[in-house]
Amino acid sequence: MTRKDRTEGIYSRREVLDESERKQYNLIQLKELLSYAYRYSEDVKKRFDRAQFNIEKFKTLSDIKHIPILKKKELIFLQTMGPRLGGLLTKDIGELRRIFLSPGPIFDPEDRHDDYWGYTEAFYSVGFRPGDPVQVTFNYHLAPAGLMFEEPLRNLSCATIPAGPVDAATQLDIMQKLRVSGYVGTPSFLMHLAQKAEEKGIDLRKDLFLEVAFVTSERLTEKMRTQLEKKFDIIVRQGYGTADVGCIGYECYHKNGLHISNRCYVEICHPDTGIPLKDGEVGEVVVTSFNKTYPLIRFATGDLSYIDRTPCACGRTSPRLGNIVGRVDTTARIKGIFVYPHQVEQVMARFEEIKRWQIEVTNPGGIDEMTLYIEASNFKREDELMHLFRERIKLRPELKILAPATLPATIRPIEDKRTWD
Ligand SMILES: [Zn+2]
Repeated sequence: MTRKDRTEGIYSRREVLDESERKQYNLIQLKELLSYAYRYSEDVKKRFDRAQFNIEKFKTLSDIKHIPILKKKELIFLQTMGPRLGGLLTKDIGELRRIFLSPGPIFDPEDRHDDYWGYTEAFYSVGFRPGDPVQVTFNYHLAPAGLMFEEPLRNLSCATIPAGPVDAATQLDIMQKLRVSGYVGTPSFLMHLAQKAEEKGIDLRKDLFLEVAFVTSERLTEKMRTQLEKKFDIIVRQGYGTADVGCIGYECYHKNGLHISNRCYVEICHPDTGIPLKDGEVGEVVVTSFNKTYPLIRFATGDLSYIDRTPCACGRTSPRLGNIVGRVDTTARIKGIFVYPHQVEQVMARFEEIKRWQIEVTNPGGIDEMTLYIEASNFKREDELMHLFRERIKLRPELKILAPATLPATIRPIEDKRTWD
């Protein structure tokens, strides 16, 4: 059977705007959103007034920095504050198409217009094409993911099998009998399916017909991607978004990071101050989606990434988010310096004798102290490790070398044991 071309083409002209067109487009979208939201969302009006933010003064994209950041925690609280999800919605609950509930607990409204969650261009970019039978393994019950990812498949004229998180044997049986060519789900579940199939003696390349996978909601390591692609002989690409705003970014065939979607404006901000950072600097992903129904303006996702504007071979001109390198809540500020787990990981990766590591932060007498635990047998490169650590992280930890398997089975990369009273 000949395979479809899944590597070429672009879904929307907005993906290839040049830099000045894109700026203009974003500016128009933001202006419209801000004035609409100010007019129809009680909560947005309150917040803008409190911050003395005047829409008339919104002239360039960078003026957005005058609007306070909206943290997820605030959103949870806000939603309990009365009708229209605490006044944030610009219409009544009954005028929506669906309302989901995701952990928090937090309600996720879905309006009635087409491509509400904005994943269609993402699915095209990943490689889904008309006529694909696609198995969606995300939950359809109360959480938005299942239906959220069905929408782009309908728009691309694919057929959907709403499998949800049913057991592996059933999933594999469906995949085989219907010659399913697309998978939508988490990377770990796809790996689980591979293992179960291998146990049953199913040949992943000959007995199954998968060609493309859209994975999300978990970290996809390059190692895992390569394994999955080899095992199934498929293209595995990821999308990035949240249950609140929908699609934020997606990979293309060239795996150069996540092209930022045209349906939102993304900033990378300092996690404490909300001040936008320069391209390439790691900070919190802050999203304003051009959604007039549920105007999440400068919504802080808690994810850490950076912006890359170098050209991509796919032809899309949108800036890209580098990988999601971590979460704000796993980041610690030690002696005034942000320590990101991914930075430590990069240092540790240079020492293959280090099996596992953990940083512990304490503050005896009110002064921060950092201990770096490593598991290694017969470790001889202490000076080299300390040198590299100081160079990259700008701090000098106390090093403690442990025998392999000393640390607990599950550990947080940075264990913050400081007390503040
Ligand atoms: Zn690209």
